[in-house]
Amino acid sequence: MSMSLLLGAYVVLLLGAITLIAVFYGLRERRFGPSRSGDRLFRCGKCGYVYTDDPDVDRSRCPQCRCMNDAFSY
Ligand SMILES: [Zn+2]
Repeated sequence: MSMSLLLGAYVVLLLGAITLIAVFYGLRERRFGPSRSGDRLFRCGKCGYVYTDDPDVDRSRCPQCRCMNDAFSY
């Protein structure tokens, strides 16, 4: 009787831990989601290279040809 109770408690704890991990990863993904897509997308008008830079910069230098570019709206 006590053995099945122990087994039941073990299963409940295991399910609780899995639920906590799932919630933790869900929250983490939601928190990092906007910051990842917050990066500005640039496309070089000279060589056509597409790259990202910090969201607070209006103009960014192309890493390939050093040409200044405006933010690319998508
Ligand atoms: Zn370029």
